[in-house]
Amino acid sequence: MLLADKLCIITGAASARGIGRATARLFAEQGGTVVILDLDADAATAAAADLGAAHRGHACDVTDKAACAAAVARVVDEFGRVDVLINNAGITQPVKTLDIDDKGYDAILDVNLRGTLYMSQEVIPHMRKQKAGSIVCMSSVSAQRGGGIFGGPHYSAAKAGVLGLAKAMAREFGPDNIRINSVTPGLIQTDITGDKLTPDLRVKILEGIPLNRLGDAQDVARACLFLASDLASYTTGAVLDVNGGMLI
Ligand code: NAD
Repeated sequence: MLLADKLCIITGAASARGIGRATARLFAEQGGTVVILDLDADAATAAAADLGAAHRGHACDVTDKAACAAAVARVVDEFGRVDVLINNAGITQPVKTLDIDDKGYDAILDVNLRGTLYMSQEVIPHMRKQKAGSIVCMSSVSAQRGGGIFGGPHYSAAKAGVLGLAKAMAREFGPDNIRINSVTPGLIQTDITGDKLTPDLRVKILEGIPLNRLGDAQDVARACLFLASDLASYTTGAVLDVNGGMLI
């Protein structure tokens, strides 16, 4: 059991086919107590109930600082600690540079980047007191290769920002034994990408993936498990690619 006795908060884990949900399932299997935070209270509660009675699901919009503070306070009230945070909540918008408007820009930056900062700011003081903690930030191959199929340039920018933020926080909080790493998934079959691939596009995409398949949410969940657990006890500020070899 890699996460026995660990309290693990996972944002954006209510979506049934999503990376966050797969991570929640794997963490629960590994003995972790999971708190799912997502936009809709009922969806978050139902997702947590699926995992078992020990787990919780609460509403939390990660772009709302007060909501992040309240959600983490609620977790600490009930469980007395936070060991792991997976900053997974994210949205995308497939538009080109000249079509990005203020509303889209703000939404993409707010959820992907600001949300990662807000949630980290709330858990770090508790991890500091514990002198231990692990934060995993969900970036994307779009940050590394400059654009993806489903994300616009503002999404690439936000996810590149996540990489910088995670590294800076890793440097700052290493002395408190808080490890902070990023995962950069390639093309993973979830609601973000799910049914939008035409057969032609799929063939074209697979030509660029040496492992010759799209990723699934479990592929990313296992990377999160490694980074969250003590298996990665000497790893911080790292970027773990889960992309089938797309960048080779
Ligand atoms: P998904 O749409 O299945 O899940 C995203 C979840 O985030 C949803 O449950 C949604 O309700 C939640 N969410 C959205 N805005 C939120 C907010 N403001 N506050 C709290 N929760 C919010 O998507 P997914 O594919 O599982 O993506 C998970 C993460 O992985 C995202 O950060 C995404 O950018 C990243 N990612 C996905 C892929 C891919 O190919 N699917 C590739 C690279 C990176």
